[in-house]
Amino acid sequence: MIKLGPAGKPIGFKGNFLDCTLYLKEIGLNAVEVQFVRQVWMNEKQAIEFGEKAKVNGISVSVHAPYFINLCSEKKEVIEASKERILKSARLAHLMHASHVVFHTGFYGKLKPQDVYVIVRENLKEIINRLREEKIKDVLISPETMGNETKFGTVSELTSLALEIKGISPTIDFAHIHSRYNGMFKKEEDYINMFEKIEKALGKNYIKNFHSHFTCVNYNEKGEKNHLPLSAKDPDFELLARAMKKYGIDNCTIISESPILEKDSLEMKKVLEKVGVKF
Ligand SMILES: [Zn+2]
Repeated sequence: MIKLGPAGKPIGFKGNFLDCTLYLKEIGLNAVEVQFVRQVWMNEKQAIEFGEKAKVNGISVSVHAPYFINLCSEKKEVIEASKERILKSARLAHLMHASHVVFHTGFYGKLKPQDVYVIVRENLKEIINRLREEKIKDVLISPETMGNETKFGTVSELTSLALEIKGISPTIDFAHIHSRYNGMFKKEEDYINMFEKIEKALGKNYIKNFHSHFTCVNYNEKGEKNHLPLSAKDPDFELLARAMKKYGIDNCTIISESPILEKDSLEMKKVLEKVGVKF
């Protein structure tokens, strides 16, 4: 099943975020990404209750950890605080029965990409080991593909990490990849080529079940500037939908990061149905 839903509280829902899953079900969606972008604002009791409601309403859940994360900082205390933020998000994700905890890994700074890779890898191993010690095995640790060249997170860096460390599964942020390479998704084949590259690295199971973010974007040669609604068609969602149909991808999650969130999730649903992707 394809899973579609907003990043955070639906704009058409006026109640408390913790009650939004019934609304999402009623409008015909089946996913949501809990946003801890400024801080981890949920307590354990709320996480358990949210997870139960999501289950009852058939909404699959993922979690976005805070933005203040840098696993390759020169400062040890920044790395330690970053690990804690991911761990805290992952513990709550576990209580919500969420599938992924998504985060922005960090910045290259003055270091060479290959040196940053090693630092990130060691820190991620430690995070996963800590979670295993706490018997948390069901949440995938999910670094996101990033939208400009100062940030760690190319497709190759993340697929290598996933190959080296069990429990790592990257989130594909299409808009980030599109902006990082100055508008690279221009036709169906551009998506197919990326699917092939990822499948070669991580296998069919990963590519059929990928977890992703989609929005249209404003960007320049330095990368992403801001998000735009799907109607901007840059990148054009229909090309992705057609590529998914052609590639036989039928169980992925696409979280809408459009400024109009769930309204564009519904638009995505229409486009996917139009091109013949089954729900
Ligand atoms: Zn993100």
